Amino acid sequence: MTASFDLDHIISCVSGYDPNALRVDAALAVIQRSVQPVQAVEYLAVRSALGRILARDLLSPIDVPAHDNAAMDGYALRGADLAAQGDTVLHIAGRGLAGHAFRGEVPAGSAVRIMTGAVMPAGCDTVVPQELCRVEGDTVTIPAGVLRAGDNRRLRGEDLARGKTALPAGKLLRPADLGLIASLGLAEVAVRRRLRVAFFSSGDELRSVGQPLDAGCVYDSNRYTLWGMLQRLGCDVVDLGVVPDRPETLAEALRTATACADVVITSGGVSVGEADYLRSTLSSLGDVVFWRIAMRPGRPLAFGQLRVDGHSAWLFGLPGNPVAVMVTFYAFVRPALLHAMGAAAQPQPLLRAVSAQPLRKKPGRTEYQRGLLSLLPDGRWQVSPIGNQGSGVLSSMSQAHGLIVLHHDQGSVQAGEPVDVLLFEGLV
Ligand code: AMP
Ligand code: MG
Repeated sequence: MTASFDLDHIISCVSGYDPNALRVDAALAVIQRSVQPVQAVEYLAVRSALGRILARDLLSPIDVPAHDNAAMDGYALRGADLAAQGDTVLHIAGRGLAGHAFRGEVPAGSAVRIMTGAVMPAGCDTVVPQELCRVEGDTVTIPAGVLRAGDNRRLRGEDLARGKTALPAGKLLRPADLGLIASLGLAEVAVRRRLRVAFFSSGDELRSVGQPLDAGCVYDSNRYTLWGMLQRLGCDVVDLGVVPDRPETLAEALRTATACADVVITSGGVSVGEADYLRSTLSSLGDVVFWRIAMRPGRPLAFGQLRVDGHSAWLFGLPGNPVAVMVTFYAFVRPALLHAMGAAAQPQPLLRAVSAQPLRKKPGRTEYQRGLLSLLPDGRWQVSPIGNQGSGVLSSMSQAHGLIVLHHDQGSVQAGEPVDVLLFEGLV
């Protein structure tokens, strides 16, 4: 992906920009304005399009439903025949089933036995459900007051009218959308191509699964959490492994990643430790900013565009701590990737839950605490922070139902006060 890119200009347009204490929303605004969505389109069979982004507005080629039809099992009738007072007694003129319409005229003062989904007989506009009427021989009696003209009938085109937008471009296709596309009789759909995302972990202490764990080393878990989060988004993932803390190998890995992907994600080495070479290496390969985000966990973050031999890629340099990787992914990378996939902007729904205990917090940064949800007897959700909130403690990330989001300007929370929770289950 190549595109002209002026990060300084974009940054200058975002209010409240301060790289040393950048608000989460300001960083997100820079990222969203910078990243260009992939343009290429492919045509997929409906089922293969699950989780993909619709490339163009989908116009309905037909009316759905194609005919007025019955919404209940019962008797179709003319609304005008309903008696103004007292019971209505109608002669049963025939029957219509789903797929086997009643043909012919329905004489005034008559009804047609009808099943759900059957085409409404000509002249009929109302269905009386069978449980509301009495049938004796070939007459049906409808008690006074149980029915109004037009009841229990579905109108042609009431779900989707022919020529109208059935699904807007930018929609992430969910199971309901697959059904809707099929209901229009369409076998294929135009979606944006998948986003290619390459990632690697950096750190001399990192060992990959399958290697012996030498003294002072840790197994690399970030490539697993990142892989999982990227799979959920439906990205094409390229795992470039562990890269040692050496400027030449880092530069080589970044070049490889830029050549093969739209987005490059690194973890580790973005702070200012002695072995943090990523900073200087990144700066030599593109236009990259280094932020100290006003958030916890996950303060250091690099963002920008890498350009190597005519290829370009968006870069996210995440901190190394395993929890910080996940939190910064959910806070910044995930919305940016959805945008890059071509998805229309949508706020992430948050659950309101009452805090089970007081939470200490100073206004001036966004905090994310791993939380456990429980249902109170009065039907409200309650959330408790998990004991160990250390940014390397992945086990509490695994136990948590979601992240309690304590917003930038928010102060301490009293027990029983409502807070916002980002549910892991709600993330694509
Ligand atoms: P860094 O950001 O490189 O200073 O790393 C911060 C902490 O996260 C250190 O304790 C690292 O050992 C740890 N860390 C960095 N990368 C990984 C990884 N891929 N898997 C597990 N832990 C990591
Ligand atoms: Mg490191």
